[in-house]
Amino acid sequence: MSELPPFRIGQGYDVHVFGEGDHVMLGGVRVPHERGVVAHSDGDVVLHALCDALLGALALGDIGVHFPPSDERWRGADSLGLLRHCVALAAERGWKLGNADITVVCERPRIGPHAPLMRERIAAACGVALDAVSVKATTSEKLGFTGRGEGIAAQAAVLIVRR
Ligand code: MG
Repeated sequence: MSELPPFRIGQGYDVHVFGEGDHVMLGGVRVPHERGVVAHSDGDVVLHALCDALLGALALGDIGVHFPPSDERWRGADSLGLLRHCVALAAERGWKLGNADITVVCERPRIGPHAPLMRERIAAACGVALDAVSVKATTSEKLGFTGRGEGIAAQAAVLIVRR
């Protein structure tokens, strides 16, 4: 077996288009908004970016491979369930989340008031302390699709460590 460091990094990115609806799911939290998102699952860009970051750290492909839109099991899926599945894949291989840093990109809804609860839900799903999870937000200064309010994006970086 090759000598590898006892930690690995991963990064993830996700986008969903705004559509009909009155809320968006972000970090496992129902955030009121005048639009929803178009998605096969619950369209939670925060958790999808985080799942992709974990899968990336594990070199296990991406969220589309593990939860294909063609698979009816994932229709309307609670993305906290997808996250727990990714955490279990890591655990089976001897890894756990060290820390995660997530950035949401949108003009609206405002993320700040909901970030503490998102952190709590993510930390609970990952089985880590609250201070291992960061959720922050930025606008794109009215530029591009997020700036025009056409959709919402999130990126995530993770460190996984040996259990
Ligand atoms: Mg997604």
